[in-house]
Amino acid sequence: MAQTPHRSANPTRPNLTRKMLRLADGLRERFGVPKRPRRADLLDALVKTLLSQSTTDHNRDLAFNELKRRFPDWDAVADASDKEVADAIRSAGLGNQKAPRIRSFLLWLKKEHGTLSLEFLHDESDEFAVEMLTHHNGIGVKTAYVTLILASNRDLFPIDVHIHRIAIRLGLIGEKVSPEKAHGLLGPLVPKGRGHELHVNLLAFGRTICKARNPVCAECGFRRMCDYYRNLRDGNTRGTSPKTSTARINKRSPKKN
Ligand code: SF4
Repeated sequence: MAQTPHRSANPTRPNLTRKMLRLADGLRERFGVPKRPRRADLLDALVKTLLSQSTTDHNRDLAFNELKRRFPDWDAVADASDKEVADAIRSAGLGNQKAPRIRSFLLWLKKEHGTLSLEFLHDESDEFAVEMLTHHNGIGVKTAYVTLILASNRDLFPIDVHIHRIAIRLGLIGEKVSPEKAHGLLGPLVPKGRGHELHVNLLAFGRTICKARNPVCAECGFRRMCDYYRNLRDGNTRGTSPKTSTARINKRSPKKN
């Protein structure tokens, strides 16, 4: 007899809110409360965020510092060639993609606002700040959110590819929901004031336990609320990524969280 996928049947909003709270509390127990960054220059934070794609924090910082060393200000970066900027940020990788993206934003900002500064956004609402940043074609919701939580102390919840994967496994969003769309669905479920904490802790969780290829389900305290684990345990791999079907599974009673 064919096995029925063991997914939570159309979970309601209160259930999802409770699930998100259990997740946030469980992660806090394991990883603690990360220190919030202090208010900082928003344009610096945006450029750092653009540099951080597919690299380590260390290499991102090397690239950012080199950019600051070679160019006296953001106007000089905007006026330089893509190649000159790509050379400066080489340590972050993907210089040929990142340099034009950074310059394109700087040129756009100068044209739209007359000056290369985003400091005015500190005093604007979250909605306005996100709308303004994403108005530029090269800036997505995740980049805008990360910039604002890093430099402007906002209560936002950026969703990258790792958090997106975990949210699908836990059944917080459907498998077909894009990361961009997930912001609108998951953001309202996040306990108030804990967007930054949950973002940072989920990244740590995705690096150490709920990894892309081999999630270590045996060490995970969220098995009881995880669709992916339930499907795997019941031998139903429908709806799970083949990449992740080698999860280490432990049939003992799941730990509570
Ligand atoms: S049980 Fe496994 S798949 Fe589910 S959240 Fe934990 S590590 Fe990830």
